[in-house]
Amino acid sequence: MNAPLTNMQTRDVEALLHPYTNAAQHRQVGAHIIAEGKGIHVYDERGREFIEGMSGLWCAGLGFGDEELADAAAAQLRKLPYYHLFAGRSHEPAIELAEMIKDLAPGMARVIFQSSGSEANDSQVKLAWFYNNARGRPEKKKIISRRKGYHGVTVAAASMTGLPYNHLDWDLPIDRFLHAGTPHHWREAEAGESEADFSARLAHELEEMIEREGPETVAAFIAEPIMGAGGVIVPPEGYFEAIRPVLDKHDVLMIADEVITGFARTGEWFGSDRFNVRPTSMSMAKQLTGGYAPLSAVAINQDMAEVIEAHTGEIGTLGHGFTYGGHPVGCATGVAALRIYKERRILDHVRSVEGVFQAKLRSYLDHPLVGEARGVGLIGALELAPDASGQTAFEPGGKVGAKLSAELAERGVILRNVGDSLAFCPPMIITEAEIEALFAPLEDALNVTESWAKAEDLL
Ligand code: PMP
Repeated sequence: MNAPLTNMQTRDVEALLHPYTNAAQHRQVGAHIIAEGKGIHVYDERGREFIEGMSGLWCAGLGFGDEELADAAAAQLRKLPYYHLFAGRSHEPAIELAEMIKDLAPGMARVIFQSSGSEANDSQVKLAWFYNNARGRPEKKKIISRRKGYHGVTVAAASMTGLPYNHLDWDLPIDRFLHAGTPHHWREAEAGESEADFSARLAHELEEMIEREGPETVAAFIAEPIMGAGGVIVPPEGYFEAIRPVLDKHDVLMIADEVITGFARTGEWFGSDRFNVRPTSMSMAKQLTGGYAPLSAVAINQDMAEVIEAHTGEIGTLGHGFTYGGHPVGCATGVAALRIYKERRILDHVRSVEGVFQAKLRSYLDHPLVGEARGVGLIGALELAPDASGQTAFEPGGKVGAKLSAELAERGVILRNVGDSLAFCPPMIITEAEIEALFAPLEDALNVTESWAKAEDLL
């Protein structure tokens, strides 16, 4: 029996359609309503405390209730609460933030702002198309992403996303969007295949796909340096080193989707730095403002900037832009977030706790429910499976993961199951003692979930 819904929960089910939620089930169990946050903790409407082990949706890297960030947003709200960047107008927060992004992202020449990760990736597609039209190659338009990649939910972004629920009954993907293989060694490699050989094979398969389609029809390849919503999949050794020359050879743009991996999360400023790859353009969002205001950015390299800018001269304008793209409050919050990352030495901090965090994750490998432990920096996952071979999965998928995440919530820790992978992406300010607290209930929650899985005949 579920507890009767509170007044607020009743209002919720009558008023909201929730993203990524089973509405019928939600009506029965009611919403978990979060009221406030401080540091790595959030508090629900009943006053219960939780460690937010996912930084919300991978975004609150500076935790909750940061006064400096709130003050920066409030000051901008008072000074110039709204302005835009259309038709040659500008404002200082946008200029300053674009400069700061360029400083951190070597090779990037221009920044164009939006409000969300999906809008950033949608803009990436359109800029790739516009670029190739400008270069007199109207056929070169196909976009290759990867199965299990996540790039958002607008029509183009969801077409690039390689997850079943984002396509099923949404009439997606649309034409021109193709999906290559997932770089998950543990699950996808052949018996005895080394990481380097697996990477070489994926690069070869990508090249075959480009050649099959015709290189003159392929515009861009998009990849998250670490796949986030697909289950925190860390690429195998040599993956990007193998992929990049294939793209260069066929004149295919490389878009790095840094929406999760940007701004110190992996122990480098960008995931591209961590995996030694130089993209032609980058998408950023989430930790760009620490999640305190909606803002995203696309950064493009010098070549793209020159071609695109010249073409606007020829045809009259850049026919693209969002009312809230580069919102002054978002940009001022972004400037403050990037300044805080530097002043509080967040990158050094992530590097200093990475060892403890990653060792903790891997310490659960002995548990019968845990098949793989993976991650870098302050992002990682435990993949739950009937054994550690990488060949087996729970049937149906996702139930064991959901049970574990519910058991953890009962014990005061919010972590998100992505199917049967339990994702970790705590605020980057987390201390070693707080890392201990984050993992403290895990053993017990795993044991309870294991007994439940046996009783349910899942194990
Ligand atoms: N790209 C990546 C890598 C993401 O993780 C997400 C969101 N989780 C998006 C794009 C989409 O961002 P948004 O939800 O802000 O549209």
